[in-house]
Amino acid sequence: MKNRWSDSEATEFVEKHGKRWGKELTLRTYSSRLLGVERELVLHGGGNTSVKGDFVNVLGESIPALFVKASGRDLASIGPEGHVGLALENLKRLRALSKLQDEAMVNELLTNRFDSGAPTPSIETLLHAFIRPKWVDHTHADSILTLTNQAGGEDLIKEALGSDVVIIEYVRPGFVLAKAVAAAFDASSASRGIVLMKHGLLTWGASARESYERTIELVTKAEEYLASGAAKKARASGLSRIPAITSTAMADERYVEVAPLLRGLLTVPTEDPDRPYQRFVLQSLIETEVLRVVDSDWGRDVALTPPLTTDHLIRTKPLPLWIDRPHYGDEKALRQQLSAAIDDYAAHYDAYIERNTHRMETELKRFDSVPRVVLMPGLGAVCVGRDVEEAAIVKDITAQTLAAKTRIAMMGSYEGLAEEHLFDMEYYGPQQAKLDQTDRPQLRGSVGLVTGAAGAIGSGICQELLKNGCHVAVTDLPGDNLDSLVHELRSVYGKRVIGVPLDVTDPKLVAKGFQEVTRAWGGVDLVVANAGVAHVSPLADIDTEAFRKLEQVNVEGTLHLLSESARCFGLQGTGGDIVLISTKNVFAPGAGFGAYSASKAAAHQLARIASLEFAEMDVRVNMVAPDAVFAHGQRKSGLWAEVGPNRMRARGLSESDLEKYYQDRNLLKAKITAAHVAKAVLYFATRQTPTTGATIPVDGGLPGATPR
Ligand code: ZN
Repeated sequence: MKNRWSDSEATEFVEKHGKRWGKELTLRTYSSRLLGVERELVLHGGGNTSVKGDFVNVLGESIPALFVKASGRDLASIGPEGHVGLALENLKRLRALSKLQDEAMVNELLTNRFDSGAPTPSIETLLHAFIRPKWVDHTHADSILTLTNQAGGEDLIKEALGSDVVIIEYVRPGFVLAKAVAAAFDASSASRGIVLMKHGLLTWGASARESYERTIELVTKAEEYLASGAAKKARASGLSRIPAITSTAMADERYVEVAPLLRGLLTVPTEDPDRPYQRFVLQSLIETEVLRVVDSDWGRDVALTPPLTTDHLIRTKPLPLWIDRPHYGDEKALRQQLSAAIDDYAAHYDAYIERNTHRMETELKRFDSVPRVVLMPGLGAVCVGRDVEEAAIVKDITAQTLAAKTRIAMMGSYEGLAEEHLFDMEYYGPQQAKLDQTDRPQLRGSVGLVTGAAGAIGSGICQELLKNGCHVAVTDLPGDNLDSLVHELRSVYGKRVIGVPLDVTDPKLVAKGFQEVTRAWGGVDLVVANAGVAHVSPLADIDTEAFRKLEQVNVEGTLHLLSESARCFGLQGTGGDIVLISTKNVFAPGAGFGAYSASKAAAHQLARIASLEFAEMDVRVNMVAPDAVFAHGQRKSGLWAEVGPNRMRARGLSESDLEKYYQDRNLLKAKITAAHVAKAVLYFATRQTPTTGATIPVDGGLPGATPR
């Protein structure tokens, strides 16, 4: 493993940030990040680091302090504030206790912070506090785990790392592990590190550099050992020569077929009749290495084993779900097969809870029984999370896990943790806090598709849905408008945004657009039909071609979206929502605006028909009818670019006068914004009332346009 330490970079980093945070904490940040960028050392919030120093309180007194990583913080992106300052002497005194319950331990950690607003410290804090060295680094290195997680692991570690590391049998992270580590350290403080079986590696040093470089040195030794000895054994075993049977292209094709079915079947029913689904988001892991595992005759035995390290448990559950010989190409048979397998998985998971509940010291707050990793021969792995961020973490862990388990299979036999250890860690209170659901946004786990998104109203709708936790496929005709919006939204909402170029006039392209979203997140739950175009002309002069263009976009475009939505919702079997952005003109058409008014009226009527036809699938179809919206931030309405100049001329008004004109004509004298329209969409999307086929006007009150 590459040693990334650079004295000049470290100095530069300290010069830049040290003024505010102090040299030691800044250096702690620097070397933590060096560990964090190495995915073979830690993944997503795994591992932790610390430094011991002083804290000066408000009285000017200097107090011995431990600065330790906050729970769940990612080492790759950590800042100086990511290490929490704690009163070290108070923590050290806890070592005298023979027992300390989890809640009491966390309470001690929280109580001994210097800053009451600081985040919760790592659950492994006491391990850092109980040993003397100033700098301590703890990682879950792949190469170390590859050795610790197999039969005869202790001997392999000794062979690989030599005698100057101490080995500790697995104990659950927290107070007990901290005591065990402290005892081992005291017994042989000349050692260079401690290997925690089936867990990871601990190193320390008198300087940040020394501790970091010991991690790199030991990990490198493990890697070299694996490369030499293991490679030979692997060749002898013959496993390394087995090619994948399925191509990634074929797997990808299958995934698009499987994902909506699977996503629907994984959905957990809720008690809420309006929103009876707790949905998940999927991420596929389709890589040659993964296909090699799932396509092999040894893959099942290798993969159906406990996680590499207990850190992964809250993400992946103790075991993945394996689908034997999936019935690709036969929707009905595949659905039955997946459904039976998921039920079976749930039954096993429930039984595991049942067998172990007595181990809980406090009342059990149990998780759902839904698998987080589904392994399918001929397809790869499907990773499951309550949102894309979670699913992406599961995906990274799964890739790492399958690679390490395969390496182990080549040289020996995998040996994971016993069931009681798995349960203790999966249901370890302080660890569960990482998955806290108290702030669950309303549309978390939902996937929305918005057409005509790059315009004023469309971009406003995307923003509102994203604010409420939805994943949003931002679709529009390809071009700069779409690209810049996607870029803008991604910078705020990250992985919950994808851009999909989409022309609604072509049913094939619409189907392809839905596939694209399915590929990204597993399916679609909400469709906002917003794409539309306008044309101004009196009937006497109307150009038939221009009229047809409006028919194509406004009518046929809506039709294609409705049809494709029905197909997708049908596959998932978990309801769905459609919101059509209609217009005030459907109820109160304007002279010179025949093509628009008539085509939007047809679209509106199609949506009403959809509300009749789709209700049996629990799909709700509703309409929002705005009056003129001119812009959303910098985004001008395409429709008003078309219509505005003509309207201004007709009324002899300037652009700002025109906006004022529309404002003054409604009862409330309200300026209608994209945000107003978006709120109405959200009202339907979050299913506030059992309503379908309904229209909400967003027009400030126009008596002539009241839906009737
Ligand atoms: Zn750990």
